[in-house]
Amino acid sequence: MKKQSMQAAVVHEFTSPLRLEEVAKPEPGPGEIVVKIEASGLCHTDIHAAHGDWPVKPKLPFIPGHEGVGIVEMVGPGVIEVKEGDRVAIPWLGYACGTCEYCVSGWETLCEKQLNTGYFLDGAYAEYAKAFARYVGKVPANVKSLEAAPLTCAGVTTYKAVKVSGARSTDLVAIFGIGGLGHMALQYAKIAGATVVAVDLVDEKLELAKKLGADYTVNGRTEDPVEVIKKLGGADAAISLAVSPRAFEQAFRSLRRGGTLTFVALPADNYMQLPIFETVLNGNKIVGSIVGTRLDLAEVFDLHAAGKTHVIYETRHLEDVNHAFEEVEQARIPARLVFDMS
Ligand code: NAD
Ligand code: ZN
Ligand code: ZN
Repeated sequence: MKKQSMQAAVVHEFTSPLRLEEVAKPEPGPGEIVVKIEASGLCHTDIHAAHGDWPVKPKLPFIPGHEGVGIVEMVGPGVIEVKEGDRVAIPWLGYACGTCEYCVSGWETLCEKQLNTGYFLDGAYAEYAKAFARYVGKVPANVKSLEAAPLTCAGVTTYKAVKVSGARSTDLVAIFGIGGLGHMALQYAKIAGATVVAVDLVDEKLELAKKLGADYTVNGRTEDPVEVIKKLGGADAAISLAVSPRAFEQAFRSLRRGGTLTFVALPADNYMQLPIFETVLNGNKIVGSIVGTRLDLAEVFDLHAAGKTHVIYETRHLEDVNHAFEEVEQARIPARLVFDMS
């Protein structure tokens, strides 16, 4: 007989730790599937969600997690996209309407009717997760679940951000924040052929950036990133992945004339200072970038399957979720943590 309940890490209050508890196992409705989770990545967004950091808050209680990878165990009525036994990835974009102007023009990530996994929909910090079949990604056979998990948000988000930044082979691209997102971003910028400057506050993160192909590294604690990047000619593209408005301001000031700043990180402190005069005279562009589409995710998996990217991670047990949050907040881990649920 199949299990009727499951273990999950649940947020009950924005001010309390997550509680590991036994909850009802989900049942698939029309168009839905239930996935037995094998690997579940810890994105900094999960910490923002659990703390209620953002202007729009999740409805309590909820199960976080939007880097869930596992095997389809049950399919609901009308599901044609996947079948039992397929290995799938459950991303942040859990549902979109499919018919609005954003959905039909390849911008499903902007759909106003979207539902986000691990926020409005229960997520993958659990033995099982329910998902809309139409919005899961298929994981190629030669991509391990533990590596597919970080690609499902950190990968697809930065792959898209690099595209949005317009980075080209002759460009200097500055990546601010070499965490889960940043360690992938710098690889996609290198794949685009750009010269890459990696900025962080932690030496270990910068050593990792070097190993992954960064051409220059800057420790923002001991050097002024703006000065260093300006000396290199200024950034054609700067991508803000550090959870700090100060790093956004530095990223802006490191741009050369005509350069583009791409906002990706979502610090609880929602505002930065942006000078009007310099933005106008320097012809700078500021653009926000939110995750990526299903097609972007498929491309991210293809690149990884082809051996073109490396996912750096350590595993943890879901019971240690609160400690894992602290480790990420204190930037004490290499790149990503992944809960090994297998
Ligand atoms: P992370 O904690 O793994 O990485 C953050 C990195 O920034 C760390 O390495 C840290 O040392 C570094 N850092 C902190 N302050 C810095 C500073 N002043 N200068 C330079 N580096 C600094 O986090 P993550 O999982 O990579 O997520 C990063 C942010 O992106 C979070 O706010 C998350 O919510 C957001 N996010 C956005 C999207 C999107 O679609 N826009 C998707 C996923 C995550
Ligand atoms: Zn995420
Ligand atoms: Zn839509």
